[in-house]
Amino acid sequence: MRSVTILGSTGSIGQNTIDLIKRAPDDYSVMALTGGRNLTRLAEDAIALRAEVAVTCYPECYEDLAGLLAGTGVRAAAGPEAVAEAAAMPADWTMSAIVGAAGLVPGMEVLRRGGTLALANKETLVTAGRLVMQTARDHGARILPVDSEHSAIFQALVGEDMGAVNRIIVTASGGAFRDWPIEDLANATLAQASSHPNWDMGQRITIDSASMFNKGLELIETREFFEVGPEKIEVIIHPESLIHALVGFDDGALMAHVGPPDMRHAIGYALHWPERRTLPVERLDLAKIGAMTFRAPDPARYPALALARRVMEEGGLMGAVFNAAKERALDRFIEGRIGFTDMAVVVERVMDKMSSSDGLQKATQDLDTVLDTDKLARLRADEAIAQTS
Ligand code: NAD
Ligand code: MG
Repeated sequence: MRSVTILGSTGSIGQNTIDLIKRAPDDYSVMALTGGRNLTRLAEDAIALRAEVAVTCYPECYEDLAGLLAGTGVRAAAGPEAVAEAAAMPADWTMSAIVGAAGLVPGMEVLRRGGTLALANKETLVTAGRLVMQTARDHGARILPVDSEHSAIFQALVGEDMGAVNRIIVTASGGAFRDWPIEDLANATLAQASSHPNWDMGQRITIDSASMFNKGLELIETREFFEVGPEKIEVIIHPESLIHALVGFDDGALMAHVGPPDMRHAIGYALHWPERRTLPVERLDLAKIGAMTFRAPDPARYPALALARRVMEEGGLMGAVFNAAKERALDRFIEGRIGFTDMAVVVERVMDKMSSSDGLQKATQDLDTVLDTDKLARLRADEAIAQTS
């Protein structure tokens, strides 16, 4: 029996992970579950899975969570430190499915104890990729990618020599607005940006898919996790979302990973790695699908992609700047304070300001510096937002 912890268990990835674990209850014991304000879901899952501890990241929610867990044998805890403590518990396998840079510190706890980290939280690698990869090496920890594209690349590389890889192609659905006239994007509403054509995901990543900030994050994630040069990483729009990524080799071969758009595949691969086990995902009927199509992304429609390329070139702490500015701009878009296209404008302004005045390019990453940079970038984003309104 393997012990597992799920950080962000109440979210979209967390719930899909629980779905897989519940299908094989004799194979797993649950150590910790963590969530946010959805205390009913958190408590119900913790009780059903007999977790040792359930943690909400909000200190003010402690009493309510403790009330729901009273007499059940599940311990309640609250606050960011308690989330990090849950991550530090010695689970055999830990899923990082927190959204945003808040996933970094708990993820680092898992790596520092030499654990296995199934990483859905791409922000961990975007904000501090060098530090994270080095920490994993120093402590003999393992990171298994859960983002579908990165799981696909990881699978295409099994048994291959990284030295023979000359391109990695990440596919993108194109998001909710791929066929909209560009001039309409400025007026796109929250509801319109929150519906994805192919994938059922949390709200933030769904909006990031419409703006392609998600694909920008994934380019940086690819660079950091697979440690390949930015010139080898490409994006292609593939509206059907059936090929998740392709890896190209020196001999011209392209290895594509094909599967239905269901995150339980990538989660299940990381859960059972290095084995493959039966998963509850649809078997594709290729004759019924008939055709798969591809098109180049339009830089004018998706300015986030060029900003992400800049991050890959500039390095240092620019990933932390890019991600934090994007998170703050996204908060303000969700609150209705800025428009859809303002998000990229805000991120670019923050990057311009911080890369020139604060000398963050090529800077060395350590955890405190990364966290300070994240905070400063959020302040700079607030200033830039004040200028747009
Ligand atoms: P979600 O919003 O559905 O869930 C997020 C989880 O994180 C919830 O449990 C929430 O309570 C918790 N959380 C939120 N803020 C927190 C904080 N400050 N501290 C601690 N916990 C916090 O998000 P999601 O769609 O499941 O995405 C989770 C991560 O996985 C993201 O990094 C996302 O980019 C990545 N991802 C998601 C999908 C998908 O299909 N949903 C696919 C690929 C990658
Ligand atoms: Mg993805």
